[in-house]
Amino acid sequence: MASQHEQLVHMNRGQGNTSYACNSSLQNVEQNRMRLMIEETISDLCSTSSLFPRNMVVADLGCSSGPNALALVSIAIDAIHNQCLHFQQPQVEVCVLLNDLPDNDFNVVVKSLVAFQQSHKSVVTGVVPGSFYGRLFTSGSLHLVCSSNSLHWLSKAPEELKRNQIPAYDIDENVRIERRPLVIGAYARQFRKDFTLFLEMRAKELASGGRMVVSLAGRRSEELASKFTHAWESVAQILSEMVSKGVINKEQFDSFYIPIYGPSDEELREIIQLEGSFSIREMQVPEPSSSSYNVLITPSRIANMLRAGFEPIIVQHFGWSGEIMDEFVRTAERRWSEEGSLQQEMARNPRVTLVVSLKKVV
Ligand code: SAH
Repeated sequence: MASQHEQLVHMNRGQGNTSYACNSSLQNVEQNRMRLMIEETISDLCSTSSLFPRNMVVADLGCSSGPNALALVSIAIDAIHNQCLHFQQPQVEVCVLLNDLPDNDFNVVVKSLVAFQQSHKSVVTGVVPGSFYGRLFTSGSLHLVCSSNSLHWLSKAPEELKRNQIPAYDIDENVRIERRPLVIGAYARQFRKDFTLFLEMRAKELASGGRMVVSLAGRRSEELASKFTHAWESVAQILSEMVSKGVINKEQFDSFYIPIYGPSDEELREIIQLEGSFSIREMQVPEPSSSSYNVLITPSRIANMLRAGFEPIIVQHFGWSGEIMDEFVRTAERRWSEEGSLQQEMARNPRVTLVVSLKKVV
């Protein structure tokens, strides 16, 4: 279990109705958008060294559990396989390592790894529990690091807000707008620290010329930071509705901080350049709406997706049972019950994902 001060940022466990495994199809759409970048990266890794590689280590950081845990590494393995066929080389032996925090449901992950290994003969697998803001692998041991929908989770909520009792989402709209630069500034500084640390750790662990392909929630640079709403705005809004109905208490709501920050593409670029260990091969800010994505946007799907992702951290803070999470889902569904209201909310707070491909400089 996490220590008393740590927030539980893992996703809902198991494979039941409220699990992440059953409520992560939107995140899977984001993962599929990384396919081309991962394939190009594998093609580079196989063709740039004078010798075709004999073995490779591929890691996914923040894998969670369920079908998405293996989605990125599967893309990588298929791409490696195709490179072997293309260059008429023997199969590369691949070690697949999946990482997440210790509270993640590794039981489900391990079972899917066994099945995966059985269907991929030249693959061995393992799990590596721990925070990706610390060291996870031995020096120079990795060839490719992938990560999707995870790096916007901070190591912790900004201390300065907690210390000064400044709510992350003030229920009073005027106060909220006035304080927004302060709140966002604190979150942005925490992100800068964390992401820099992430890059430093991975630079140590990747082999020379090693690569990373990562995606995270963010925003477009042209959207003003002062207008920027949290990546978790919908969660805060649903909870604040529950405050106004007296379901939860305002003091508790005011001291609730979700440790998530979505940077702009420019901000991310600057942090990577300042840290200096990686060159940016490509950065994409795909349009949030695609047809496969839009089909998935229904009130009940979004409400259950939020539950699967935020139930542990909400329950830890408010001390509720799962039944009251049912009220969270009902409040969300009611909020979006009017035809088109969810689409309007999504248009006001678009879910933007940044996708970046990096190469270790030395
Ligand atoms: N990659 C999957 C899961 C994303 S959910 C997908 O795209 O669907 C985000 C995951 O990141 C969660 O499982 C959470 O536990 C994990 N996570 C958050 N902070 C982390 C950290 N510091 N170290 C490792 N994993 C972390």
